[in-house]
Amino acid sequence: MTDCLFCKIASGEAPSEMVYQDDLVVAFKDIQPAAPIHLLVIPRKHIKSLAEVELEDQELLGHLLLVVKKLAIENDINEKGYKTIINTGTDGGQIIDHLHVHLLGGEKVNKLV
Ligand code: 5GP
Ligand code: ZN
Repeated sequence: MTDCLFCKIASGEAPSEMVYQDDLVVAFKDIQPAAPIHLLVIPRKHIKSLAEVELEDQELLGHLLLVVKKLAIENDINEKGYKTIINTGTDGGQIIDHLHVHLLGGEKVNKLV
């Protein structure tokens, strides 16, 4: 979608501190980190939220979570643990309407984002 910030970040049209990319998924640092490590992992495909996923996205969603795990290992937070959050819709606190997984760690994470 042309008017979506995260689509623009995924394509490189908008700047970000990218930490991972492949054909299906990109990950970048959150601009307002809520923990020492705060990454956003997103599909390149514009999916508005978890509420909009379809059966055809099954493989993509599995891949997305495997990338989250890989990034946790790379950032050395896999043993101590981390928090993953997917905000969905208004009551879920979703601000950016492009599906994203928050990956938070590097300290005991109590807060939500
Ligand atoms: P949401 O509330 O939609 O789950 O979270 C959106 C997240 O995107 C927030 O944590 C916010 O800090 C982050 N964010 C918003 N705009 C930008 C941006 O331009 N660049 C980056 N890297 N993160 C952003
Ligand atoms: Zn998008």
